[in-house]
Amino acid sequence: MSRKTPRTTPSRYANQRADYSDDVIYPILDEALFCTISYAEDNVPFSIPQSFVRIDDHIYLHASVGSHLIRTIADGRPLCISVMLADDIVVAKTAFHHSVNYRSVVVYGKAEIIEDQELKYDAFKALTEKMVPGSWDYLKPMSEKEMAKTTAVRIPLDEASAKTRQGQPSHEEDEMDLPIWTGLIPIKPLRQTPVPDEHGAKIELPEHLKG
Ligand SMILES: Cc1cc2nc3c(=O)[nH]c(=O)nc-3n(C[C@H](O)[C@H](O)[C@H](O)COP(=O)(O)OP(=O)(O)OC[C@H]3O[C@@H](n4cnc5c(N)ncnc54)[C@H](O)[C@@H]3O)c2cc1C
Repeated sequence: MSRKTPRTTPSRYANQRADYSDDVIYPILDEALFCTISYAEDNVPFSIPQSFVRIDDHIYLHASVGSHLIRTIADGRPLCISVMLADDIVVAKTAFHHSVNYRSVVVYGKAEIIEDQELKYDAFKALTEKMVPGSWDYLKPMSEKEMAKTTAVRIPLDEASAKTRQGQPSHEEDEMDLPIWTGLIPIKPLRQTPVPDEHGAKIELPEHLKG
């Protein structure tokens, strides 16, 4: 099955900036911590940000069994999920040519509830390890009660596109010599020094949180 369909084909820069390969889509999904899930209910659009993890050719989402999002999308209605990494603000000589360097993915699909407890457990582990690498074995093990309080769903990456823009700003011929600064303002997110709460303050920072 090809990920490229009429609705995953951008109108603009389709040949230069769009990509459908695992090599481009997977690293974006693995670096981005959050996605936005869009769906319609009674002809009203909803667009909800959430954490996610990719395992093989699926995106996995978790939420409380009471979550409106999960309860609604569990019926297999059409979804659109978008993920983006913004790398730089692109500063040009004109407002018109300002831009953003980005790597993003759009996925169309339907959610499948994960009934298999082993797969559900693995999805929890993958999401936790994505958020806090090295933490799964350090944490109090997940209980069956906690598993039961959570619904996990997965969406296949069967119909998905990546789009990327990287590079310096564009300039018109007659603007080259204008004394206006141009270039990039990097905006990459960073994991900073962990800040303990009152309980964490009594415990030595574990190795996986150092550095
Ligand atoms: C952080 C960020 C900032 C941006 N800022 C702007 C802006 O200010 N102005 C602007 O015009 N564009 C901006 N873009 C690009 C924007 O996301 C669209 O790509 C753009 O509007 C052109 O869409 P289109 O008409 O070619 O595609 P459409 O015809 O709207 O979309 C058709 C299909 O193309 C695919 N597609 C389109 N865009 C993306 C994407 N970004 N990632 C993955 N798949 C995609 C999807 O499968 C979509 O269903 C930004 C993107 C990001 C990630």
